[in-house]
Amino acid sequence: MNIRILNILEQTMADGPGFRTAIYCAGCAHHCKGCHNPQSWDFAGGHEVTVDELLDVIKADSLSDVTFSGGDPFYQVEAFTELARRIKAETDKTIWCWTGFTIEEIQADPHLAQMLPYLDVLVDGPFILEQRDTSLLFRGSPNQRIIYLKGKPDDTIPGTVPLVPLR
Ligand code: SF4
Repeated sequence: MNIRILNILEQTMADGPGFRTAIYCAGCAHHCKGCHNPQSWDFAGGHEVTVDELLDVIKADSLSDVTFSGGDPFYQVEAFTELARRIKAETDKTIWCWTGFTIEEIQADPHLAQMLPYLDVLVDGPFILEQRDTSLLFRGSPNQRIIYLKGKPDDTIPGTVPLVPLR
C-alpha cells in the first residue's frame, strides 16, 4: 500500500514531545485561511512511498517516536491506518497525528475512524486564523485540542485533554 508524502523529517523535536520521525503527507482539502503550509494542499504533490519503506525509516531510529502530519493524513486514511497498525504491532513507539477534522467528525465516520485505535494522540481541528496564538504548544489556534486517545493526558503540555469527556 502506498502513501503520498511530501517529506520525512527525522529526529525532529517540533512535531510532538521528544524526538520524532515526522511523516508529512500530501493533500489537504480543509484549506484553512492562513495555513502554514498551503503547498501541502495538492493531492498530486510529493511522491509515493510504500508502507514498508516508511516502516524501514521509522524502525531504523530506535530513539524516535512517530508523527503523522501534512497535509492531512485522514485523506489517506486506509494507508495511514495500515502504517499505524504495523507501527503498533512491530514497535513500542507512540504516534501523534495532526488533522484538520475534529474528533467528532472522525468518530461519526467509520471510514475515518478506522485509524483512531492505533493513535496515541490526535491534534484535531482546523487552524482558525482569527484565533491564532503563537504561544500555544503544538497548535496554531486554541480550538485545536491535543487529545490523548490512550492513557492520561500529559499535564506538562497545555491544551491536552483526555478522550472522554470532550468539550
Ligand atoms: S488542516 Fe492543516 S494543512 Fe490543512 S489547510 Fe488546515 S492548517 Fe493547512
